[in-house]
Amino acid sequence: MKRILKSNLPELWESISNNFDLFLPMEQGTLINFGAYETDKNIRLDILKTNSSVKEFVFPQTETYLKFKLNKKKLELTPVAVEDREYVLFGVRNCDAASFKVMDNIFLRQPVDTYYKAHRDRGIIVTLACNNPEETCFCSAFGIDASETSPLADIATWEKGDYLYLDAKSEKGEKLLNSVVTLLEDGESSELEELKREIKIKLENLSLRKLDPKKITKTQQDIFEMEDFWEELSKKCLACGSCTFVCPTCHCYDVKDYDGGNSGERYRCWDSCMISDFTRMAHGNPRTSQLQRVRQRFMHKLVYYPKNHDGLYSCVGCGRCIEKCPVGLNIVRVIKRLGEE
Ligand code: SF4
Ligand code: SF4
Repeated sequence: MKRILKSNLPELWESISNNFDLFLPMEQGTLINFGAYETDKNIRLDILKTNSSVKEFVFPQTETYLKFKLNKKKLELTPVAVEDREYVLFGVRNCDAASFKVMDNIFLRQPVDTYYKAHRDRGIIVTLACNNPEETCFCSAFGIDASETSPLADIATWEKGDYLYLDAKSEKGEKLLNSVVTLLEDGESSELEELKREIKIKLENLSLRKLDPKKITKTQQDIFEMEDFWEELSKKCLACGSCTFVCPTCHCYDVKDYDGGNSGERYRCWDSCMISDFTRMAHGNPRTSQLQRVRQRFMHKLVYYPKNHDGLYSCVGCGRCIEKCPVGLNIVRVIKRLGEE
């Protein structure tokens, strides 16, 4: 366990950024998002929920696979590789860190998505415990403890008093801490016990503490057939897709060609199950109404995904979709309603 005075953090970040691409939560206009470290940026480690999640570092919004060019009658293809410089995400909250596990289960199973894997392999995740969880947080419903080390962390950190404590949890984390060891002093994990106890009490007192998706015991078929409930939800939905784009676990994408005449690119881009042309194929679209699309989104997160992944839910309780939905669709209410007898 190491620690550093918080007033010395700019020195630490400067040193890390000499060897790695470093990203931290920072003010970007009116929003707070992870951005590339520069000395004049207004870093906001106090913010729990950045506007966008960190999924874009492993699953970019758009990503070019290959470029093509017509040279007389010959088609030249140039694959585009992922940059190999390592990067550090500093200040990831445990809910967002947990989302990597949800996506790993999809992209790292056979056949492995080589682009996603390349992004994951070169990333170092530095988590930050949540000293002041918000009333809208419900990560604990999904087994996430905001006071402890995330299993996905390469380095876990805690803010206590004037210090930031850092605990390396993987080889990558050790390597990063060793590269800045001259800036750090020794700390003791016992110095964090009181802080962790305080955070746990705050988590226990959150209004959504009792939310429990395991109370959803209806059969998949029964949930699927709750037509009135899905109808009531979906008639409000504007099909804007915001909920899926801000969600750290939503991972649907489309693959498209940009045709620039004699040259072009094949790229993938985020897609959304809430949009009417999602998965449209030559024969048409398997989901033809907004009711089917809204039902799919919630059932995927709370029923299908856990059924196929040993009970792991495809939601980490970050609350972004609730905050961003222009008409107030709320996954908490869905969990409660599905869990009613
Ligand atoms: S709360 Fe909403 S945005 Fe956050 S992980 Fe769950 S479904 Fe996604
Ligand atoms: S953000 Fe709200 S309105 Fe937009 S697609 Fe999602 S549920 Fe529908």
